Amino acid sequence: MDFVDLVGHFEFHGLTVDLHEYLEGPHYSPAGPHPITNEDLPRTFGHEFAGTVVDVGSNVKDIKPGDKVSVYPLLYDGTCSRCKAGYPNICENLGFYGISGWGGGLSESVSVNRDHVYKLPPNMTTELGGISSLLCLLICSSMRTSRSCVACRKTGRL
Ligand SMILES: [Zn+2]
Repeated sequence: MDFVDLVGHFEFHGLTVDLHEYLEGPHYSPAGPHPITNEDLPRTFGHEFAGTVVDVGSNVKDIKPGDKVSVYPLLYDGTCSRCKAGYPNICENLGFYGISGWGGGLSESVSVNRDHVYKLPPNMTTELGGISSLLCLLICSSMRTSRSCVACRKTGRL
């Protein structure tokens, strides 16, 4: 198992899109099951967050309970032509933790795939970690070259 369980108070939540979804949506949180999470409304929002690890799957060796982590919130299928071309940030089934299901930063707890977790340095707060998640999204989504994002090392190109 490659999941990292986060629980309790997520010290930072980006509520940008989530607030619009709550007040005016759904826009990015489609009614009906999301193709990746297979979850329908209602969903627990909060797609930009960081928190403290409480448990890890048996295959996770580099993250341990007590570690502070930031979550890369994009969900992608890995099978569509865009993902296969190296651009999961524009996946045909793009989604986000929370908005698309599996729980978000406003949940009491959430399990996140190991590939979506970035361990924060000991001197970095989860508030900054959550902001780094937001910055990473902005950098990835605005990059128009094949260079990888300096924050998450994923390739971003629109
Ligand atoms: Zn895809």
